[in-house]
Amino acid sequence: MVARVIPVNTFDLVIFGGTGDLARRKILPGLFRRFLSGQMPADSRVIGAARSDLNSAGYRDMVRAAIDEFGGDEKAETKKLDAFLAQLEYVPVDAKGDGGWKELAALSRTDVVRAFYFSVAPSLFGDLAERLHTHGIAGPKSRIVVEKPFGRDLDSAKELNATLAQHFDESQIYRIDHYLGKETVQNLMAVRFGNILFEPLWNNHYVDHIQITVAETVSVGGRGAYYDRSGAMRDMVQNHLMQLLCLIAMEPPSKFGADEVRDEKLKVIRALQQVEPHHIVRGQYDAGKDTQSYREDAENPRSFTESFIAMRCEIANWRWSGVPFYLRTGKMLKARSSEITVVFKELGHSIFEDDDTSHQNTLSIRLQPNEGMDLQVTIKEPGPGGMRLVDVPLDMTFAEALGDTDIEVTDAYERLIMDVIRGNQTLFMRGDEVEAAWGWTDPIIQGWEARNDVPKIYEPGSSGPEDAMMLLHRENRKWRNIKA
Ligand code: NAD
Repeated sequence: MVARVIPVNTFDLVIFGGTGDLARRKILPGLFRRFLSGQMPADSRVIGAARSDLNSAGYRDMVRAAIDEFGGDEKAETKKLDAFLAQLEYVPVDAKGDGGWKELAALSRTDVVRAFYFSVAPSLFGDLAERLHTHGIAGPKSRIVVEKPFGRDLDSAKELNATLAQHFDESQIYRIDHYLGKETVQNLMAVRFGNILFEPLWNNHYVDHIQITVAETVSVGGRGAYYDRSGAMRDMVQNHLMQLLCLIAMEPPSKFGADEVRDEKLKVIRALQQVEPHHIVRGQYDAGKDTQSYREDAENPRSFTESFIAMRCEIANWRWSGVPFYLRTGKMLKARSSEITVVFKELGHSIFEDDDTSHQNTLSIRLQPNEGMDLQVTIKEPGPGGMRLVDVPLDMTFAEALGDTDIEVTDAYERLIMDVIRGNQTLFMRGDEVEAAWGWTDPIIQGWEARNDVPKIYEPGSSGPEDAMMLLHRENRKWRNIKA
């Protein structure tokens, strides 16, 4: 099966922070891949805008090096890379001053889709939004893309929303959460809402519990000072894990449209109950044989910031009442693995007397690595010897059926950027969703601060603190193994 490429209209994409780490590692290599797929019309332009004193030729050299370093197999295609680079421009711009804005305005076209990617620190969002208007660069149909972190608590998120709202309508604002751009996250919705099989089971009658794990092997080294002011709750739970939780728990929207989906997600966040302190385990990684401890990486010997968190949440509505949602994320864990697993209930009664083991169907959605899905089903163990049962995975990625060699691997960033160009906000967070998520997160963090809560130390390369295991063990459940 050959992948269908949906054409897009001619666009100008201005990347503020176009020389930064995110632009070089994700945005520009992603755009090049879209170019190779024929999704960048020849008269479209990408305009880098940042503080560095470069001209367009210098910028193209920088982008060539970035694609060489961070691009995938496609970097070999030199001629095509030259053609892509020819569509790039650069303007040195000062977000806080006057420098560069006239030059940027001179490049501005009004007859194409205009998008502005704010790949800069959030403290510059307001300055950029304001100057885009005072210099007449943005219009009522322009779009802005903003990166995380979107605030560090409810007040700052509200302030950021209000600042952007002075210049842009909500329909023009695209708040990125790259987890939503992943193929399997969308496949989760296809499986849930495109089949009749799952929906009748998707509730507290049949689901025992749900686990969401986002495990990383990296430390906070290099960005320790930033991370120490944030921690796993702000950096990962409030946005990424919360978004995944919403998609797995939301009611079926009336259609796969931006507001329909986001309305349902918002209802989930609002139905989340406050988490009791004894249902949360925070951790900090210890030093390893050749690795520093969290506190050394953060250069803060008295830090109480968590590099790991596990928690048990509940959603107070008809569908989910009584079903625990266990969330877990951390740095320096044993493998890099992100996974959502729906664990169904055990059978009420087994008719197979030869089999005395317990069986639970599970549906796992793997986000990384190896995006895919599998459903564990129970079958008869092959061969003679009675009716012994065994659990086997039913691979639901159907790579073979779909002819995997022709399917393009689309990175989350490039998919989301193309959604911006198409004007599709479905996979972006709405302002009220972000505020609701902070509204749920804030009292939990305030509780730790008030109690001077000290994170538990865990071994690097482990699955986190022992107490995180206990969170499930004491309810006769267990975490799925973290494996690559
Ligand atoms: P970075 O420090 O590598 O780059 C910052 C960019 O902003 C540079 O291009 C710099 O020239 C530009 N800049 C700084 N001050 C400016 C000013 N006054 N006027 C104009 N341009 C200015 O940062 P980054 O890692 O690329 O991150 C950018 C944003 O993306 C941040 O909000 C960050 O939180 C977010 N983010 C980054 C990553 C990542 O992997 N790097 C991941 C998620 C979110």
